[in-house]
Amino acid sequence: QVIFRDYVTGFLSESDLLINSTTVNLKVPAGSMTALVKNLYLSCDPYMRNRMRKPDPSSPATAMSFVPGKPISGFGVSKVMDSGHPDYKEGDLLWGAVGWEEYSVITPIPNLHFKIHHTDVPLSHYTGLLGMPGMTAYAGFYEICSPKKGETVFVSAASGAVGQLVGQFAKLMGCYVVGSAGSKEKVVDLLKNKFGFDDAFNYKEENDLNAALKRCFPVGIDIYFENVGGKMLDAVILNMRPHGRIAACGMISQYNLQVPEAVYNLWLITYKRIRIQGFNTIDYLHKYSEFLEFVLPYIRQGKITYVEDVADGLESAPAALVGLFRGKNVGKQLVVVSRD
Ligand code: NDP
Repeated sequence: QVIFRDYVTGFLSESDLLINSTTVNLKVPAGSMTALVKNLYLSCDPYMRNRMRKPDPSSPATAMSFVPGKPISGFGVSKVMDSGHPDYKEGDLLWGAVGWEEYSVITPIPNLHFKIHHTDVPLSHYTGLLGMPGMTAYAGFYEICSPKKGETVFVSAASGAVGQLVGQFAKLMGCYVVGSAGSKEKVVDLLKNKFGFDDAFNYKEENDLNAALKRCFPVGIDIYFENVGGKMLDAVILNMRPHGRIAACGMISQYNLQVPEAVYNLWLITYKRIRIQGFNTIDYLHKYSEFLEFVLPYIRQGKITYVEDVADGLESAPAALVGLFRGKNVGKQLVVVSRD
């Protein structure tokens, strides 16, 4: 198990998580509506950092805080080993909410646990492309951004789990797409060469983000898929076109700060008639089968590709999770707990 040591202030470190051994009962009572699952793949997601904050009734970000001394939890891909639930049987594969541990006892909940029926694609994809991050890109881009062919689209953290898909969706729609990421490898090998972005830049090497955006978007930005917040959001607002849309998916640059950064140009959204909308994928998971019908043909035709960064073994999970906040992951970060 990966145990949550205590509430975290400041930058998350590996020592905030402990590896623990315990024993599990490999049977669940008949009729208990629970299932014992073996976790195969775990998904490392930035929102998990926000679940490490001390609960504060005035902050909705802390509504689901982890419990000190207990295993942390997240999304994963699992195999049913024993079941007291009529809809699940031994050998079934599923993805959904599980503990960060080798075995979990779950109470399957509709729209939080999904049986896996398509196994002609890599099982690990159900942590990313075909899991929660995929749904995030789908709902965030098509529902929140109201995209139209020919529009200009900017994606930050563009090589990550969500961003790489948003960029490819936008290209499929016939948009002009630019992404930012934190290394040359991500910008050149992934964004430009693998995912087919029209342009991309390394935000760590730009002294002036406003100038970088002006260079890439001489006529301005119609859609911003916001993954990072902070200084990038400030610079983007300056470059948004009138009636632009911003999907506030996440703001990872703020998650480890004790005091969030100010966004100075927010006042301009009035004059530019910009719509900025936050969203939570949890509210869209009822559309999962619609998403699968949409995305699976593209994957099978090779029109959508997906890059994963795979950490081996539960012991490597704390470092993999912390690495998200240093940009160490190249593509979707996941942990292999077991391959069968
Ligand atoms: P990624 O796979 O993109 O990993 C996070 C990446 O963020 C890192 O690789 C790093 O890439 C970048 N990053 C880390 N720290 C900073 C920083 N200080 N400034 C700028 N970039 C930084 O993660 P996801 O694709 O899973 O998540 C992307 C965003 O989407 C996050 O904000 C997350 O919270 C949000 N999200 C929201 C959901 C929702 O329901 N609203 C659901 C899922 C995700 P780089 O090398 O480019 O710096």
